[in-house]
Amino acid sequence: MLDLHTKIEDFTVEDGCLTVGGRTVTELAETVEYAPFYAYDSGLIVKRVEKLRKFIPPQIKLHYAIKANPMPDVVRLLADNVDGLDVASAGEMHVALSTSCPPPEISMAGPGKSDQDLSEAVSAGITINAESEGEIERLAEIAEQTGQTPRVAIRVNPDFELKTAGMKMSGGPKQFGIDAEEVPRVLRRLAETNLEYCGFHIYSGSQNLRAEAICDSQRKTLDLAVKLAEYAPAPPQFVNIGGGFGVPYFPGDEPLDLGPIGECLQQLLTQRDSELPGTDIVLELGRYMVAEAGIYVCTIVDRKISRGHVFLVTNGGLHHHLAASGNFGQIIRKNYPVAIGNRIGSSEMEVASVVGPLCTPLDLLADKMELARAERGDLVVVFQSGAYGFTASPHLFLGHPSPTEMLV
Ligand SMILES: *Cc1c(COP(=O)(O)O)cnc(C)c1O
Repeated sequence: MLDLHTKIEDFTVEDGCLTVGGRTVTELAETVEYAPFYAYDSGLIVKRVEKLRKFIPPQIKLHYAIKANPMPDVVRLLADNVDGLDVASAGEMHVALSTSCPPPEISMAGPGKSDQDLSEAVSAGITINAESEGEIERLAEIAEQTGQTPRVAIRVNPDFELKTAGMKMSGGPKQFGIDAEEVPRVLRRLAETNLEYCGFHIYSGSQNLRAEAICDSQRKTLDLAVKLAEYAPAPPQFVNIGGGFGVPYFPGDEPLDLGPIGECLQQLLTQRDSELPGTDIVLELGRYMVAEAGIYVCTIVDRKISRGHVFLVTNGGLHHHLAASGNFGQIIRKNYPVAIGNRIGSSEMEVASVVGPLCTPLDLLADKMELARAERGDLVVVFQSGAYGFTASPHLFLGHPSPTEMLV
């Protein structure tokens, strides 16, 4: 179960101070003059990929979906440790192209790609996951006008959804992908163009903590790909079966068990060998690779008591870390794991709420949590912050300074 003590142990403690990459948060805070910051532990990121490799059969390709954390240093580190990168915009593509990842192993997904996004992606030689028939027509036009051969995979909107996913992205009408039942016709059309057909991208959802549900979705996904491949102009080079591996954020969340997923993938490889020989199976993971390796740190600027309740008012908050405030897609607000980073192991505890400087009650990083008794100048640490933090937050809201990011 998610518990603060094991979190703290992951990062190790020196003289009551949490460390990231061997440096205390106090030391790191001094380097940024006490501005709020995100710190990502490179050792923990690499360890995380090693853990995946231990459970996932080696024939399975591992991709990093960089929208989870597109900090260039993080992406470069991961590019050296995974088999490919998935991007969701031209901006992310430029980050991916600055790494060791070969362009064909970079794939671009996402609805609403502009003509310029498509042209840049084609010129760069990356793989484009087409989300609609319109995108395929526009790519065919680019191919005709420029003589280039765009690498195209079809993103399929399957006829099932990922059960118990935090965020469902398939089944029913969706802005993502081409409906499975339309794919045979689209593949026939694709065969008439100058596009290079590369495979399928089938992504059903995110933030799933149940291995059985993920296995179920993976099996259905490969079955669907096998069926659709009959209509393809060439054998698929790859089938991207998505990811959805979740991370525990809240008290009581159980970490995902990779054991059954590894076994399921082993079975899928056997099926692959007989039904789609030569096709790579790709897993696409975002938060699972980075979320637990990152913390967000802000400084307490005021300590006030309101009608007996302690408020620790910090220089960071919702505008830096929307997810920890509970406003990034959560239905019921729950506390992320939070600690006073320079008072770990303190025997003097109290119940307090950690709030930010914004003029809205939504700006809440911890609601009535048991924390070490803290003073002005102490550092609040929010764990599980390596994904969907910095770039998923409205920095401009109320005009406070932006946080810094560092890979340590
Ligand atoms: C968001 C997204 C991901 C990453 O999701 P995580 O929950 O961070 O693993 C991967 N692929 C696609 C297509 C996505 O939209």
